[in-house]
This record gives sequence, structure tokens and C-alpha cells, in this order.
Amino acid sequence: MDTTTFTKKSFGVETVEPGLTPPPIPPAETAFAKKPKLAGGKKSKKRDIPEGLWTKCPRCSAMIFDKELDENLKVCPKCTFHFPIRARERIHSLVETCTFEEMDAEMSSVNILKFASYEAKLERDGRATLLKDAVVTGLCKIGEKRAALGVMEFGFMGGSMGAVVGEKLTRLIERATEKELPVVIISASGGARMQEGAFSLMQMAKTSAALAYHAQRFLPYISVLTQSDYGGVMASYASLGDLIVAEPGALIGFAGPRVIKDTTQAELPPGFQTAEFLLEHGLIDAIIPRKEMKSQLIEYLDFLTAGGKAGTAS
Ligand SMILES: [Zn+2]
Repeated sequence: MDTTTFTKKSFGVETVEPGLTPPPIPPAETAFAKKPKLAGGKKSKKRDIPEGLWTKCPRCSAMIFDKELDENLKVCPKCTFHFPIRARERIHSLVETCTFEEMDAEMSSVNILKFASYEAKLERDGRATLLKDAVVTGLCKIGEKRAALGVMEFGFMGGSMGAVVGEKLTRLIERATEKELPVVIISASGGARMQEGAFSLMQMAKTSAALAYHAQRFLPYISVLTQSDYGGVMASYASLGDLIVAEPGALIGFAGPRVIKDTTQAELPPGFQTAEFLLEHGLIDAIIPRKEMKSQLIEYLDFLTAGGKAGTAS
């Protein structure tokens, strides 16, 4: 009998997931024990499936062919679980081909507080994501409309916001204000980056102020919440959208559920901090599956910029 060797990867809460630009592959993990060899027996024919070909869905346990998962924008075809998706893949799925003009791609963090092991972490996540920090920003076209787009990368230190994330987003918003463009920011973040202390916290005020100037010009801002959005990011630009939408199953809050439960000593309601729960309670405006995100954004941008100049400038 043939022996089949699977390599299992589990997705879900990890900060590192495979992307179009693959991160280093972790040491292989064998999902099924190999058939023991029988002493003196005939050498069995073995069919090896190459590493990284299948992914197990953490919700429905289906084994999904990686190519199928990529083609489906990292959404489980069986149960629609939304796997984490790389920032660059996300951009690719939303903008018109060859229209993304990236800004400040080389801006990188410095260890200003001399925080132990911070540099090593920056380097590790830089290698894994091929980014210099946790956000990619640029001007682009979504449908017919020009827009300023910022996409956070959870795989880079949990999408945390330090000085670089704050500065890149602020420059993006300021450019949008100057060019009279709508802003779309797709967040996935654990919050402010503790390794940069107060410098991280200052980004909350900076990004919020830039958005206030943007709003004074009657320009729209759409905040899209994905994966998990907490702390200083949720307490600043992520919750300031004219429209706040989320992907199914996104986790949204300030402090995490365990902290809240321990502090309040109260039982939390089912579905607490999920996008679905928060839609019911009025924090967000809509839940949009990833595959419909582009068409919905086009519709929103058309609606929000109708009659105005936003999005038509070159
Ligand atoms: Zn599934």
C-alpha cells in the first residue's frame, strides 16, 4: 500500500502565514505517522506530496489545496472561514492592475528606546513579510476612482503601530487631502507597538488629526476591519471611518476578552467582540465577505464621492 505523507500547516491566529511572496517555511510537521517499515520486508513505494501543498481549515478541518485557497482569496471554500491574507495579496485583490503607486516603501523603524530584542524581531518579520514595517501605503485606482489606500500587515509584529506605521498612514492621509482623494485603510492590528512606548501612542493623535483635516475637506474615509483589530489602532484611525466595515469573523475591541472578563468578573455574551456581534450593536456598518470587498468598495466610493471632486483628481 502506498504511504502518503502530508505536511500540515495550521492557520488562524498565527502572525505568519504563507503568502504569494512566501515567508520562510517552518520546520515540517508530520500530520500522519509514517507507516513503520517491516524488517526485511519489501521496500514500499512512497508517494510524497511536496511541502506546503495543503492547508487545514481551523474551523471545519477540511484539507484545502493551497492553489485553491489562493484562488479563493484565502477563504475556505467549504465553510468560508477567512484566513489571514498578506498585505500585498490584499492590494492585488482590490486595485486595478498596475495602478498602485507605493509611498515610503523604505521607511523603517529604529530602536529608539533600546528595547531588548526589538531589532531582531524587526529583522525576523522583515524577512518573513518582505516589508520594512507593518503597513503598505500608496495611491491607486479602485474601479474608476482614484483613492489613497493603506493596508496593514498582521504578519509584521502583529500589525502593531509604531512610529513608521503612524507616519506612513499620516503621509498617506495628507497626500489624499492635498489631492482631494478618498482614503481607504484596511486594518489588522494588535494595537500600539509596546517597543516604541509613548512614540507609538503619539501616532494615535497624529493619524486622527490628519483624518480630521481630511474630513474638513468633505473627503470620505472608509475603514475596513479584518482579522483582529485592538488597542491603539482601534482607538484611533480604525474607528474613525465615515463608513466602518469588517470582514466576517473579524475580532474587534480595545482590550481583549480575557482582560475584560478578569477585570469585570462578568460572563461575556456569546460572540463578544466579533464583527457580527458589533454589527448588531451598531459599532460597524456592514460585514463584507472578502470576495465582495472590491465591488462593495467601488460602490461606496461612487456613492460617497458623487457630485464632489474626491477621487477624480489625477
Ligand atoms: Zn473551513
